[in-house]
Amino acid sequence: MDYILQTNNLTKKYKSFQALSGLSMNVPKGSIYGFVGKNGAGKTTLIRLICGLQEPTSGDFTLYGIRNDSKDIIKSRRRMGAVVETPSIYLDMTAEENLKQQYLILGLPSFDDVQDLLKLVGLENTGKKKAKNFSLGMKQRLGIAIALAGEPDFLVLDEPVNGLDPQGIVEMRELILKLNRERQITVLISSHILDELSRLATHYGIIDNGHMVKELSAKELDAACRKCVRLEVTNTSALARVLDSMNIEYKIISDTIADVFAKVNVTRLTTALTNENCEVLSMLEKDESLESFYISLVGGGGNA
Ligand code: ADP
Repeated sequence: MDYILQTNNLTKKYKSFQALSGLSMNVPKGSIYGFVGKNGAGKTTLIRLICGLQEPTSGDFTLYGIRNDSKDIIKSRRRMGAVVETPSIYLDMTAEENLKQQYLILGLPSFDDVQDLLKLVGLENTGKKKAKNFSLGMKQRLGIAIALAGEPDFLVLDEPVNGLDPQGIVEMRELILKLNRERQITVLISSHILDELSRLATHYGIIDNGHMVKELSAKELDAACRKCVRLEVTNTSALARVLDSMNIEYKIISDTIADVFAKVNVTRLTTALTNENCEVLSMLEKDESLESFYISLVGGGGNA
């Protein structure tokens, strides 16, 4: 697999406080990588390091295969756009003026793409309106447009939906999906809003107290959190015989409990079980989401 970003044993200390501890993460090319963790877990610190805003205390990382201590890291960073903490926009300028300013800073040869970029982020009709009068969602999207100047193929977004209203969240989600699917941009998103991340992410990295607790793909998460029906019966041997005859996948948990990994026709199942002198005592649908998976790894009590 090709990786855009790989960190190796990355550590960051602020005086004696260790914000990142031997963190290793791998962001596959083409992914939407959800970087999940409570407030204070170390997400922004990691992002600051890869953007070159701070230096690691130890460990290293590669961006497009270039190590952070190589002089060519500057070239790699040109292929990356980031919105870290609050978007860097000029509040007294319009969306168009903000973008043109960024083109000038980057030394881009023409403003030809400015309108396309404004359209891409849904700000093409904001005319003379100054950024200070934008909603938070509009400011965030302008921040993304600025980060996209120079056509990066890796976009890093630090808590992009934080504080957005429901409509702003939907617009942000659609924009991120569009950038990933239509422009093949790899996206790293940090967030503590798990439900929102799970609608987007193709891969996850779960961080807690500066440690990478688990990296996994959305497919692996799905497999780990397969929906199932938990059945409590008087006799799981009889249940196993019946499910085998129906070719249904299951797992026996105890003498009376089994998880069934398929939609079952309840009437057919109970009739077949009655014929085997087995009663159904209870039936419960289990849907372990990202949230419960996360809690099983790092525990509750936080704000993720
Ligand atoms: P997150 O983005 O996951 O909310 P941060 O990376 O912002 O977490 O912070 C991780 C930890 O490092 C927090 O405990 C925070 O207080 C601490 N921290 C962040 N920046 C600094 C700094 N400049 N000086 C001292 N401590 C810091």
